[in-house]
Amino acid sequence: MQLKGKTALVTGATRGIGLAIAERLHNEGAQTAICGRNQELLNHTAAKFGFRPYAIDVTDKDGVASMVADIVDTWGQLDILVNNAGITKDSLIMRMSDEDWQSVLDVNLSGAFTVARAAIRPMMKRRSGRIINVSSIVGFAGAAGQANYAAAKAGLIGLTKALARETASRGILVNAVAPGYIDTDMTRALSEKQRSAIVEQIPLKRTGAPEEVAGAVVFLASEDSRYITGQTIHVNGGLLI
Ligand code: NDP
Repeated sequence: MQLKGKTALVTGATRGIGLAIAERLHNEGAQTAICGRNQELLNHTAAKFGFRPYAIDVTDKDGVASMVADIVDTWGQLDILVNNAGITKDSLIMRMSDEDWQSVLDVNLSGAFTVARAAIRPMMKRRSGRIINVSSIVGFAGAAGQANYAAAKAGLIGLTKALARETASRGILVNAVAPGYIDTDMTRALSEKQRSAIVEQIPLKRTGAPEEVAGAVVFLASEDSRYITGQTIHVNGGLLI
């Protein structure tokens, strides 16, 4: 129970990596809020695990501001923010529409900015806080067919470093995790052939589990990481070294 007495918000936590992160934070004792767009799934997940649910799209600036305000009103503080919400809309650049470019930037990058901006004010007041951004191996290595996603995830690393420098003097630590190939709905869309080709390149010879990303996030949320800011933990089985 290393997070007893803390409060946390995980965006995009109705399934996949976000859900695993929320579960771990909750199991470590943090009161945990989650958000997502699918209200039915959100309510089901929140009721099952004991999370506080917010049916909020991270691109909705007013909705994000009222979500953070409500968490602070209810719990008195927001200690840990995990910017996890993300989408992909893959295609080669010649065929990538403006909408597909923009929506991936809007959710993955601008969404994280919007939630971080709202969360930093109460964190600054308390001179304490943790922000953990979920980037991707693709933000470091690139990937054909993912120009929008790679740009957004690389952008998140710049955002992480800038916020780390800007808020360190107020006791706020800002870090990122960069998962490799993790088994979730996002990657299940790949064919068995594509999947085996990827696994072949992973030194640990298997894909990752959402819980393995959650472990790194819990470390970054805990006291054990109190001298770490502006960094990225890569959780990729050695795929990018
Ligand atoms: P999933 O598609 O399984 O889950 C995505 C979650 O985000 C869902 O809960 C979804 O809920 C929510 N979400 C999506 N868009 C929004 C939005 N606009 N506002 C609020 N919530 C939203 O994805 P993963 O669990 O695989 O991915 C989680 C994060 O990890 C993402 O940032 C992804 O880019 C990153 N990542 C994943 C990897 C992988 O291999 N799976 C590898 C590297 C990084 P709903 O649809 O109801 O809104």
